[in-house]
Amino acid sequence: LASRYESGQFNVWIEYNNLAMITKPLNLGQGFPDYEPPSRFSNFLAEVAAEKNLYFHQYTRGMGHVRLVNALSKLYSSLINREIDPLNEILITVGAYEALFCTIQSNIEVGDEAIIIEPFFDCYEPLVRIAGGTPRFIALKNTKPNSSESHSSDWKLDPEELASLFNSKTKLIIINTPHNPLGKVFDYDELTMIADLAKKHNVLVISDEVYEWLVYEPAKHIRIATLPDMWERTITIGSAGKTFSMTGWKLGWAYGPANLIKNLMVVHQTAIYTCATPVQESTARGFEYEISVLNTPESYFQNLSKELKPKMHFLSNVLKETGFKPIIPDGGYFIISNWTMFENKIDLSLELDKYKDLQFTKWLSKNVKLQSIPFSIFFSEKSKPMAEEYMRLCFFKKDETLKEAEKILTSWT
Ligand code: PMP
Ligand code: GLN
Repeated sequence: LASRYESGQFNVWIEYNNLAMITKPLNLGQGFPDYEPPSRFSNFLAEVAAEKNLYFHQYTRGMGHVRLVNALSKLYSSLINREIDPLNEILITVGAYEALFCTIQSNIEVGDEAIIIEPFFDCYEPLVRIAGGTPRFIALKNTKPNSSESHSSDWKLDPEELASLFNSKTKLIIINTPHNPLGKVFDYDELTMIADLAKKHNVLVISDEVYEWLVYEPAKHIRIATLPDMWERTITIGSAGKTFSMTGWKLGWAYGPANLIKNLMVVHQTAIYTCATPVQESTARGFEYEISVLNTPESYFQNLSKELKPKMHFLSNVLKETGFKPIIPDGGYFIISNWTMFENKIDLSLELDKYKDLQFTKWLSKNVKLQSIPFSIFFSEKSKPMAEEYMRLCFFKKDETLKEAEKILTSWT
């Protein structure tokens, strides 16, 4: 293995999915729904396949199928209040992962620094390192550690600490709102603080907004690209997998000013060239439908959080009633929960991982048949000890699955 890829060797999704194949637990680990997406979206793929248009089965435009970039331009132009050029300001990628890869690869020079907020979606760190960059970490801190009920909004950045990370080597900062795994939705003041620092130090902002439609009222999703003078320095990343609850479609995008997007395009045309045509055509139809119903009761984008909010409350309550201490999220589809009240009840001595949350989550998968994801994998090596007390659970599951989780936890605790 080329040494620059060393930081990518451990991958929690591979390891925990392999574990689940052996332990066959109730799986609240990796984030995806365990029920059908709305048939109106999945049917588009069947329609596209049935249409006998030979062009749907051949390569399409490298930087993104025209019907899809047009639909995305229409949607996001209205959401960010600026006309987005579909051909030059949008790139279609293999999931949000590839959009992150292209953005980081095309901007980081060897020796550049990238600011990453902990906890972070796990690939950010290896992506920066593989590009030759140095990650500089800053952790969100729980500002109310003693409150009886914990909320994701209690977790905050220290503005002075953040300011101290910027220097002449800082190339970019990665933000993620709504946040995986905490479910934090950054508010206007927090985003303004980050934006002001980015402007002051002439730094690029990567805004990972794959959960943009998963926000629980009264929290509100704010796109940092809409803040004053931020369009010029922001690449915003989205995911059809998250947007339409079909994570297997693995289609994503990046949008931003043409002078920045053209650099991402160089990485994309070198490594990927073009994404699957039928999936792009079907996603375009999905967006066209959604745009036509956007502010109506039919809107899936608007209904998704309404569908998920009761599931979030149900799982939070199960955790509370069984003695765990969950952190109530404002967005996304995960709940972080403290598990350490059970530490004395179990024997983790056979689990050989360095960090206790890995030991516990593996033990839980094997012995209680419930799969979760350890919290420390979302932190840099130095910060992992502060994350060991928590695990992450996904609540985008059938009500029966969540009831089964209740049964499992009630009988175990
Ligand atoms: N960013 C975040 C915060 C995520 O949780 C995920 C996982 N879906 C991704 C990016 C990658 O998304 P995709 O599946 O579209 O590649
Ligand atoms: N984003 C999802 C999660 O955090 C899936 C992870 C992945 O695609 N590797 O569970």
